[in-house]
Amino acid sequence: MTLTSQSARRYEEKLLEQKRLLEQATLTAVEQGRETTADDTQDIADQAVLSYQKELLFSQGTTGHQQLTLVRQALNRVQDGSYGECVQCGAEIGAKRLEALPWTPRCIDCQEKIENGEIEDPVRAA
Ligand SMILES: [Zn+2]
Repeated sequence: MTLTSQSARRYEEKLLEQKRLLEQATLTAVEQGRETTADDTQDIADQAVLSYQKELLFSQGTTGHQQLTLVRQALNRVQDGSYGECVQCGAEIGAKRLEALPWTPRCIDCQEKIENGEIEDPVRAA
């Protein structure tokens, strides 16, 4: 494996936190969908924090569900020791990229190929 277990552990913590936020945001979206009035129960400050988190999480152009899938897959890769390697070409994913996007399954080169339509994105295709 390409990462020391110590740094893999640190990314794992970030991923677990991200997973928690995504699950919370998803639940909140469902709950808010059921509400007919916006101003009855929820604390305003809580709502502001949650909507900020949602904006942050969904700003990558993926849905919460897709991102949750990516986070779960990344956690699986931490478990099996392949975390930090590109799932497409096996290259080591740069530390800066992992810091910014700890759930990313690919190196920047493969990500660009997907964005250019040169290779298929298995998550989006699913
Ligand atoms: Zn790659």
